[in-house]
Amino acid sequence: MHTVIVGAGIAGLNSARYLAQSGQSVTVLEKNSKPGGRIATDHIDGFTCDVGFQLLNPQYPEAKKSLNLPALDLHAFSRGAVICEDNRQFMLSDPTRHPLALPSLLRECSVTDARAAYSLLKDRESTTFDQALERAGFSASLKRAARTFLAAVTADSSLECTPEFGRKLIYYFLKGSPSLPAQGMEAIAYQMADLDGVTICYSTEIVEIIEEDQRVLLRCSDGKELYADRVIIAGGPLESAYLLDSEVPATGDLTTWWFAADQRPTASTYLHLDCSDSPLINHAAVVSNVCPSYAPAGQHLIQASVVGSSDLEAEVVAQRVQRMFGCEGDTWRLLTCHRVSPALPIMTGRSAWSPTGKLAVAGDFNQASIQGALASGRQAASLSSSQ
Ligand SMILES: Cc1cc2nc3c(=O)[nH]c(=O)nc-3n(C[C@H](O)[C@H](O)[C@H](O)COP(=O)(O)OP(=O)(O)OC[C@H]3O[C@@H](n4cnc5c(N)ncnc54)[C@H](O)[C@@H]3O)c2cc1C
Repeated sequence: MHTVIVGAGIAGLNSARYLAQSGQSVTVLEKNSKPGGRIATDHIDGFTCDVGFQLLNPQYPEAKKSLNLPALDLHAFSRGAVICEDNRQFMLSDPTRHPLALPSLLRECSVTDARAAYSLLKDRESTTFDQALERAGFSASLKRAARTFLAAVTADSSLECTPEFGRKLIYYFLKGSPSLPAQGMEAIAYQMADLDGVTICYSTEIVEIIEEDQRVLLRCSDGKELYADRVIIAGGPLESAYLLDSEVPATGDLTTWWFAADQRPTASTYLHLDCSDSPLINHAAVVSNVCPSYAPAGQHLIQASVVGSSDLEAEVVAQRVQRMFGCEGDTWRLLTCHRVSPALPIMTGRSAWSPTGKLAVAGDFNQASIQGALASGRQAASLSSSQ
């Protein structure tokens, strides 16, 4: 039994890993020249800039199963966020880890907010997280903070995802400390691509997949044809839809600017959320405070992210972030700006694809996260080997 996997993102690589472990013959075909798909890193002048700011939560159950987490040398952000409003800032943080944040938490979170959190957990009527948040009855400040945070992790400002998915994301963020690997997020992909018994063919794009009686035909962009007993399509939301000739799922975009600074703008190891009345960005952080290897010695790396594909001028973004950090007038240098499209599928609850015959699909379309991509990779492999 020979399985071909289309796509060497983390979903496809996890399928390959499980199939190889069960003794199957596996080939992965990847159109890019490297593994990782939406997990990628640019190295610029000694700085490590992930292609779109993202974090690995080491408490994801699938990450624990599939990754060698100690080898990634993870560096954790502080659990919580600094909420930056127009005229004040406050910290929302886990007091069991950051006891100094307790007074701020008690000051900002009323009994009403505690009740609202409870009703958000219990809500079974709302169809979107947006509705659930409106119904829950949080104070204006907390509602805005929750909206800003969830918009970033779903790549969707209108929070169209299901309440279940929103709750799941919050659960993971409460459970674990989102982290960065010392060598950049791409280290996850390179670790996963280091697979015994699996052939990965890079720069190989599949343009057509045809299910025949006994086998599956894969046609490459250079006209070559390949055959497989089973195929797992793990090409990301848009490419998988194209290969399956099926409806394209809704997706969201993210934009991240990376700046270099000679002076440390703040010592904070938190994410700072732009919760002003007219927010310009979504969040920012001094990434090198958390993971010093992301910047050369004596320099500092700052990220600022926006939900959607943004044309904002880097200078305007830098000014806004400097106000949030309280370091107006500092000189920052733009390293790069990543507009990632699509960044994430939007979890509207309309199930995307199910396997048919000799074809299975893997990816983050049922759970838009590293956890979801890894889980579906494992599931597609077990389906493929049981057929
Ligand atoms: C900016 C950004 C921020 C994120 N933040 C987080 C976060 O903080 N936490 C979190 O858990 N998740 C986050 N994610 C989501 C996470 O990165 C993705 O869920 C995950 O990487 C998806 O992996 P995948 O393998 O399903 O898809 P992809 O990574 O898209 O992989 C698909 C692969 O298939 C290849 N391919 C496509 N078509 C073909 C073809 N025709 N032939 C051959 N190869 C093909 C592509 O080149 C690609 O390598 C973020 C994503 C982005 C982009």
